[in-house]
Amino acid sequence: MWARGDQVVFRYRNHERITAAIPMMVVEDSPSLVALFVPAETPLKRRVLLDGSPWPRAIPYEEQTALPWRMGDGVMHEHSILQLTRPGAAHSIWLMWRGGDWSFRRWYINLQTPLRRTPVGFDTRDQVLDMVVLPDLSWHWKDEDEFAAAQRIGRFTPEEAAAIRAEGETAIAAVKQRAWPFDASWNEWRPDPAWPVPTLPEGWDLD
Ligand code: MG
Repeated sequence: MWARGDQVVFRYRNHERITAAIPMMVVEDSPSLVALFVPAETPLKRRVLLDGSPWPRAIPYEEQTALPWRMGDGVMHEHSILQLTRPGAAHSIWLMWRGGDWSFRRWYINLQTPLRRTPVGFDTRDQVLDMVVLPDLSWHWKDEDEFAAAQRIGRFTPEEAAAIRAEGETAIAAVKQRAWPFDASWNEWRPDPAWPVPTLPEGWDLD
């Protein structure tokens, strides 16, 4: 288990290849919750094209998946994010605040495989489909088009896709009941002001 204030590396993998590595501060690591925080503007590693240009998310998903790529430098952009993940759960619930003024923007339900511990932090596989939950608890699916394309190219079998969507529907039940953390119990949380901007350690890409 990690201690509050430790820095860890949170990584996304696709077919075992690391596709993003984000340094995060440990807020809580207990049998019931893994809470990790990444402030806006944090430098990270993510996929880029071979010439270093940013990932072209606007082009069709099938074309994106055929592109050769390497890991390159990126940043977290405008949001500070707190990720709340129950050990064993196939989704994570994020709180997103605007970096400049800590105004609460939304919850984000990221469908992902259960966290796997590594020597440097945690790994997961993103399941493409997501949900956005606004402060008034209205919600919508996100990236359904990419999720459909991911099924067409065989990234998910029909059974896997059904399980991913069912996981999302389970999470939405908590929204409808205004249950944790949609009861806003974390909305006023703030990081320790003494914490640094987390950085990736040597060996961030090792197993
Ligand atoms: Mg996602």
